[in-house]
Amino acid sequence: MKINSLHDLYVMELKDLYDAENRIIKALPKMSEAASSQELRSAFQLHLEQTRRQAERLEQIFEQLDESPKGHKCKGIEGIIDEGEDLMGEDSPAAVCDAGLIGSAQRVEHYEIAAYGTARTFARRLGYEEQARLLNETLQEEGATDKKLTTLAESYINEEARSAK
Ligand code: FE
Ligand code: FE
Repeated sequence: MKINSLHDLYVMELKDLYDAENRIIKALPKMSEAASSQELRSAFQLHLEQTRRQAERLEQIFEQLDESPKGHKCKGIEGIIDEGEDLMGEDSPAAVCDAGLIGSAQRVEHYEIAAYGTARTFARRLGYEEQARLLNETLQEEGATDKKLTTLAESYINEEARSAK
């Protein structure tokens, strides 16, 4: 896809996010299964539900733009998920594994926070107020998820990981 304008770049960013969300929808059930902390499992499951709605919001935006959501691979999220899977294959003590899962999940959220922030700001500049609102809704969810993961890590998971053998 040739990118000649801010509008083209905006569509490309949205395609990147759509591919990212679909990869995350596939990864989250595996992460939830790999987690030992019940709260961490619930956090992943809740975010899976949110992520499905986020993908639907993007579909809504593509419809408004009369563009296809397909046709771009998000290499960034692919790489982050790959690294997370390598870590899950390490056969570490349960809490250490949980601490690693949180680290991987937060990398994903930060990628999304950056990308949704950019897309929302482009949408505003292009005058797509409704799309900016939808993108901002997702951006807030990603931020809240990131904070929740920090709270879980700091409240007990990192300490359990530190004392695990
Ligand atoms: Fe997301
Ligand atoms: Fe997310």
